[in-house]
Amino acid sequence: MNLSQRDKVYNWHPYTQHKTSSDFPAIIKGKGALLWDENGKEYIDAIASWWVNPFGHSNTIIADAIYKQLTTLEHVLFGGFTHDKAVELSEKLMEILPSNQQKIFYSDNGSTAVEVAIKCSFQYNYNKGIKKTKIIALENAFHGDTFGAMAASGISFFTDAFNGSLLEVVRIPIPTIDNEDKSIAVLTNLVKTNEFAAFIFEPLVLGAAGMVMYQPEVLDKMIAICKQNNVFTIADEVMTGFGKTGKIFATDYLENKPDMMCLSKALTGGTIPMAITSFTQEIFDGFYDDDVNKALFHGHTFTANPSGCAAALASISLLQSQEMQNNIYRINQSHLEFDSKIKNHPKVKTTRVLGVIFALEVTTDSEESYYGSLRNKLYNFFIENGVILRPVGNIVYILPPYIITENQLQKIYQTIENALEIV
Ligand SMILES: *Cc1c(COP(=O)(O)O)cnc(C)c1O
Repeated sequence: MNLSQRDKVYNWHPYTQHKTSSDFPAIIKGKGALLWDENGKEYIDAIASWWVNPFGHSNTIIADAIYKQLTTLEHVLFGGFTHDKAVELSEKLMEILPSNQQKIFYSDNGSTAVEVAIKCSFQYNYNKGIKKTKIIALENAFHGDTFGAMAASGISFFTDAFNGSLLEVVRIPIPTIDNEDKSIAVLTNLVKTNEFAAFIFEPLVLGAAGMVMYQPEVLDKMIAICKQNNVFTIADEVMTGFGKTGKIFATDYLENKPDMMCLSKALTGGTIPMAITSFTQEIFDGFYDDDVNKALFHGHTFTANPSGCAAALASISLLQSQEMQNNIYRINQSHLEFDSKIKNHPKVKTTRVLGVIFALEVTTDSEESYYGSLRNKLYNFFIENGVILRPVGNIVYILPPYIITENQLQKIYQTIENALEIV
């Protein structure tokens, strides 16, 4: 048996119906934007392995930082102890986060970063004797798969089986250009009830919904409405963070800054699972008390793992280099060129570009479901042609590693053009 076949014996994959899925390619090597499977077939990783990998696979700068850390101090518990890498990483994050962010809480992945933010928004109020146990979220949002994060997520077939066991979330329309007034009106009515602890959102781009985009101006207004009504705002930048939108954070496009931010995915350059939730001083102060019961009783075994922190420090240095900033600019320019070429194609309904993100909606007669037949046809075509793209329903998007070469980008564009001929 080869690896693909052996995999099926014991492995249960995420988001997979094993009865109907085919064998998965077994990847045995990665370098830059490329991956190779056990048969020697080459793939361009056009989605940076679920948006985690800006600086290329097997990046030696990050690998060296991890190796050095592993052979100095691989891990120490963060309850009752600290270490140099957590101190340095928090200092570094303070340089790049919006200036209202003052405290960093470490965890392991995007979902846990969101859990921590939601829990803090509830307990902050609880500590003051106020009962606020509901949150506001956007339709079709994705915030992760643990219970709190899942409750905030709005992609229904991800969560239908758990209805009734989830915390109370009220969803408002995504404030896309046509929906701005409606979305603001719904939010305005909700916040007046004093029942909501927080409004959580993916700023400017909803990733898992299919790179659905909206404008900073409307989000600025929504944050202002929440602030006036004592509803915390949580910017889930797990996908958008670290350069994806063209700035370091999507919130850098805003005048009004959120109270909390969630970061993960590209935080460690796609190497070690790690996440952070950042907070304003005001939120931290809501837990700061002589009463021990007012503390945040939340933690994970690997909280602030030193090797993860070392990886994040190396990643952020890479992100800040002129070379990487040039790459982000170059990818954006190439996307815009491809966009103007493809947007009038008869099979293309709409397109959108922000930073290194490009998305295109394929024209369909029917409502295309998330994992529907058109999606599968496109996905299989891309994989056969050595390009890793995971369409969401009829939406094809590109979110490449920043080190991708111009030739590789052109190959992705060409493959998408070819795919439009077969649908
Ligand atoms: C991926 C993602 C999450 C969940 O992160 P995990 O590491 O998969 O738990 C949360 N929010 C957003 C916006 C994401 O894209």
